[in-house]
Amino acid sequence: PKISPFLEPGKTTQVGSLAILQLSRDNLQPVYLKAPSGKHDGYAEGAVVNTRYGSFPHSTMIGVPWGSQIRASKVDTGSRGRNNKRKRNKSDDDGKEASATVAEEKTEQESTPAEVNDDSAAVAKKIVADVSGFIHILPPTPEVWTSSLPHRTQVVYTPDYSYVLHRIRARPGSVLIEAGAGSGSFSHASVRAVYNGYPSEGERKGKVYSFEFHEQRFHKMNQELKEHNLNSLVHLTHRDVYNGGFLIDGKSPGAEAIFLDLPAPWEALHHLSRRNPKNPEDKEWVSPLNPKKSAHICTFSPCIEQVTKTVSAMRRLGWVDIDMVEIANRKYHTSRERVGLNLSMDRGVNNSARDVDEALSRLTEIEARFREHAARSKESDDEVDGDEDDGLIKRREKKEQKGGKKRGGEKKVKIDHKPDSPESFEALPSGVPMWMEGRLITRGEPEIKTHTSYLVFATLPIEWTEEDEAAAAARHPVIG
Ligand code: SAM
Repeated sequence: PKISPFLEPGKTTQVGSLAILQLSRDNLQPVYLKAPSGKHDGYAEGAVVNTRYGSFPHSTMIGVPWGSQIRASKVDTGSRGRNNKRKRNKSDDDGKEASATVAEEKTEQESTPAEVNDDSAAVAKKIVADVSGFIHILPPTPEVWTSSLPHRTQVVYTPDYSYVLHRIRARPGSVLIEAGAGSGSFSHASVRAVYNGYPSEGERKGKVYSFEFHEQRFHKMNQELKEHNLNSLVHLTHRDVYNGGFLIDGKSPGAEAIFLDLPAPWEALHHLSRRNPKNPEDKEWVSPLNPKKSAHICTFSPCIEQVTKTVSAMRRLGWVDIDMVEIANRKYHTSRERVGLNLSMDRGVNNSARDVDEALSRLTEIEARFREHAARSKESDDEVDGDEDDGLIKRREKKEQKGGKKRGGEKKVKIDHKPDSPESFEALPSGVPMWMEGRLITRGEPEIKTHTSYLVFATLPIEWTEEDEAAAAARHPVIG
């Protein structure tokens, strides 16, 4: 079977790849990369993603290593202009107010075929890599999917699901039950946790059995699972689990890990027993659990009243080791102090004599380094300070250079801060790599902003029969 890009994305992007475009730290946009056929909304370049950071033709994002930085391109707006004009005229005809900007802002996802059909050579010529900004192209992972997925419900976020999956012991080869599926955030994380490749006959395949009773959400999620090639690993059933339970065509999925994100988990718990809770002697009753392993469950509820009811039902049904956890996630922002700025400041005035000397010698080192860079740089000052504005990076560089000029008395100096530039890894005379200059500063969020949910964990041990005891005694005879 085709392997899901969520599980094995490969090294580079391809036509048809699901890519997550990271516009800024928390602004992620999923996109399917299209071949540059030149047929999208009048762009000669083919499909284009327009963002506030510039335009990004798909052709510039295909065949690059995942994680690459993509610079904005100047797109040929000629045909698009014609297209917009057409739309404008049409709107005018309709007597409605038309806006060229609205049409300009259309993204590739909304695009319609237009009359232009250039070949790739012509396309390449028309793309001039300069304009304003850049983005990063990321492979789909459960984490970025959680941040970018189309929300249909409240979802479980990474800090919660990573802890939950650890506590319910989801691991390669596990069989996991999940209800309700909702927007599929937890499903994506859990399928990666249980994925153990495509094992040979007889070997147990890690699998997620997911349940959702809302019809539209069920269909949407089914479609997404197909698009992500996860449908052979996540089995989604349209069902009300309070009444219908967790069997698949009357058979047991054989689960040992369970996650319930439902309004009333206690109403589903009686199905997750080893025997019929109403009649333990009922031989016809089928348990959805793996009889050979303890079952580990987590229920996810925002209110403490729900927790109380769940815990009470768990106790009655024989679950043990019941406890509750709330994840209070706090983000930390870590950065380095600007090179040079901290030299005399961070050591305090009282240490002056020795520290000023030290600061001066470090400054001299850094200045020497800047001069070296300037001498090596083949690009002229004009290119840096010229009219052409080629992006946020260059602007950032210019700003840094201005700082350098002030401090070091240097003229204009070009410093390459691109992480892939070998120069940026070179050491200062002191042996400290350039990029490690400056103190690390870490700032935590002042307060925890949100309560997500209470997580209730419990374990249902395996049944221990006389035969099990006899077999165990044979394996480990009791001495005396
Ligand atoms: N965990 C999901 C995620 O990470 O995207 C979000 C789950 S959402 C909060 C709860 C879902 O449970 C809803 O989609 C709802 O339709 C579904 N649900 C509620 N009661 C249900 C029931 N009795 N059987 C199956 N699904 C149910």
